[in-house]
Amino acid sequence: MEHIVIIGNGISGVTAARHIRKRSDKKITIVSAETDYFFSRTALMYVYMGHMTFEHTQPYEKWFWKKNRIDLKKGYVKTIEPKSKILHFADGDTLQFDKLIIATGSKPNKFGWPGQDLDAVMGMYHKQDLDKLELYAPNNKVCKRAVNVGGGLIGIELAEMLHSRNIPVTFLVREDSFWDVVLPKGESEIINKEIKNNHIDLRLGVNLKEITSDENGKVKSVIIAETGEEIPCDVVGLTAGVSPNIDFIKDSAIETGRGVKVNRFLETNIPDIYAIGDCAEQHEAIGQRRSIEAVWYTGRMMGETVAQTICNNKTAYKPGHWFNSAKFIDIEYQTYGWVWANQKENESSFYWEHPNNKLCIHINYNTSSKEFLGINTLGIRMRHDFFNRVLNEKRSVDYVIEHLADANFDPEFYKLHEKAIVAKFNQDNNTNIQLKKKSWKRIFQLS
Ligand SMILES: Cc1cc2nc3c(=O)[nH]c(=O)nc-3n(C[C@H](O)[C@H](O)[C@H](O)COP(=O)(O)OP(=O)(O)OC[C@H]3O[C@@H](n4cnc5c(N)ncnc54)[C@H](O)[C@@H]3O)c2cc1C
Repeated sequence: MEHIVIIGNGISGVTAARHIRKRSDKKITIVSAETDYFFSRTALMYVYMGHMTFEHTQPYEKWFWKKNRIDLKKGYVKTIEPKSKILHFADGDTLQFDKLIIATGSKPNKFGWPGQDLDAVMGMYHKQDLDKLELYAPNNKVCKRAVNVGGGLIGIELAEMLHSRNIPVTFLVREDSFWDVVLPKGESEIINKEIKNNHIDLRLGVNLKEITSDENGKVKSVIIAETGEEIPCDVVGLTAGVSPNIDFIKDSAIETGRGVKVNRFLETNIPDIYAIGDCAEQHEAIGQRRSIEAVWYTGRMMGETVAQTICNNKTAYKPGHWFNSAKFIDIEYQTYGWVWANQKENESSFYWEHPNNKLCIHINYNTSSKEFLGINTLGIRMRHDFFNRVLNEKRSVDYVIEHLADANFDPEFYKLHEKAIVAKFNQDNNTNIQLKKKSWKRIFQLS
């Protein structure tokens, strides 16, 4: 029987295994060095914050794996021998495969800072990082201050986590405004305020110079490059982005760049070896997407796609329109299509912000054709299906404004703001667009 081995028990690897099982009787083994069972990485923060236990982050019961004949093997793969199709483990064990799926995810970036490997310096990615955080920052007596290095989604989550236990946090961000490589000015400034309103000591436009050590090899302080200021602290979170976790593959015959190089079918340069999820890098990016996409739903899509191919239904990875969502402390963020941090040529935008500085809507469109290109919202929940259709049908910005009532997910809440949004659009553009009433028919057709 053909043996499919998957390295990585994250969302990508586990989705691939589930879908291969749905379609075939192949022998399946999932290997992971991290945990015995699959868990939701995006929920790690809620464990520290006391909203759920670690067990609650595991969506499948323990019997699920046996019942579905998916073997689980705990161990760290040290090398892959593509020709003889053998995996070598750190403990000396080996495993033979017929087909291999590499789904090894990401690892936190380290940029060679002095002191980056001291005790109590950590990323916030793996379950082991959560355990370390519990050890070094259980409360504000043990951890009098933490410093996060690097703005972005994980940096703000870690700040929120520490803040939930009343641990003072200094947040060093190299950029002049939070996540301004992704968020346009308006959105980024709202998040700056949200961070500061939560009493997190946000330092913009600064770099880490070094992390100093106490006599036991544990972090003592950080020093800021620009000012030389020394900030005493007990924990340092390295949250300056992530990169593919593929160091152990670099010396094999499998082609790598920043990630494991794959074509549209998620095939590597070696027959019968595939890569999916955060660790996969498309030879050529799809449309305007990045060649490496380190997000949850694309990992799941790649898992489903590669399962089709492995089960004799060769299928290309087609992720559709870009969307994403996140939460910045108390503010929900959604994005559909493309709204760039810096507007491109021949693009215009419409921006509305509520006076409370917590809600905004930002629409990007083509200046000459008025085609809708994308939307960001903060604090306002939108309907995915609506924007998928609008992007498929290449509708205009006017259409979106007219149908705002259909676009939003929360009618009661939105009723309060949609008139103000349309009025601002009409004023900015010298138009006279009238809001259409919510069409339940349209919504039910869509969902
Ligand atoms: C704190 C946090 C919050 C996040 N929030 C969001 C969010 O809100 N929305 C969103 O879209 N995305 C979010 N992400 C990103 C998302 O979690 C990842 O994109 C996704 O988990 C990647 O899944 P994956 O299966 O590709 O890899 P992973 O989940 O990283 O799984 C890979 C597994 O492979 C194991 N492994 C690696 N190398 C080896 C080896 N040599 N031998 C054995 N095992 C190995 C790893 O230990 C790991 O268990 C978040 C990430 C983090 C860390």
